[in-house]
Amino acid sequence: MMRIGMGYDVHRLVPDRPLILGGIEIPHDLGLLGHSDADVLTHAICDAILGAAALGDIGMHFPDSDPAFQGVSSLVLLKHTLDLVAGEGLKVCQIDATVVAQAPRLGPYRDRMRARLAETLGIPLDMTSIKATTTEGLGFAGRREGVAALCIARLEPITLP
Ligand code: MG
Repeated sequence: MMRIGMGYDVHRLVPDRPLILGGIEIPHDLGLLGHSDADVLTHAICDAILGAAALGDIGMHFPDSDPAFQGVSSLVLLKHTLDLVAGEGLKVCQIDATVVAQAPRLGPYRDRMRARLAETLGIPLDMTSIKATTTEGLGFAGRREGVAALCIARLEPITLP
């Protein structure tokens, strides 16, 4: 009955944009470009959750062309995603995500990201794992051209009391 899904996303780093990851703003000289707040971590989480329910992907449910999502917090998209899987009788139990970024160092912000995401997902902190890695200077992440995020989500059927 357990369901597993994976998600992956990339956004471009540009000047004059805030860097939002996991629903919190992180001080940095560059931010992520996108139609919404471009929170690449939260987008990967949404895709993992949708994947576990075989409900397609984030681009299908929240298209870039829809003005309703212009500048919107990705936590709003995450809440919509939870509603979609609840419609299939499923709830999120656990996530494990990795952010791939050369800079800034995310360790100091990890616990705030975890707390924000755990609260939004409605799951315990110890079921909400956020990791970070660099690529040792290699590739687009290493050149600081963008940030990638990966996530695995575990869903279970909603049990009635
Ligand atoms: Mg995205």
